[in-house]
Amino acid sequence: MVRLFHIWLSLPRPTSRKVIDMLIAAVVAALVLGFLTGMLAFRVKSRWCPECGATTVALTAARAR
Ligand SMILES: [Zn+2]
Repeated sequence: MVRLFHIWLSLPRPTSRKVIDMLIAAVVAALVLGFLTGMLAFRVKSRWCPECGATTVALTAARAR
């Protein structure tokens, strides 16, 4: 991260602004994507029983009633 900051400082000003903006956008996008993927994976995983692998959709639906 320190190395990245030094590269940023050595770059010409207009380019560095664009690069840092793109970098921040990329990091935020990656974090959001990772978070959403993690949430989706957790939701999908929770659909099946961790012990016998049977679907828990019917179980969840029955519990909701
Ligand atoms: Zn089970």
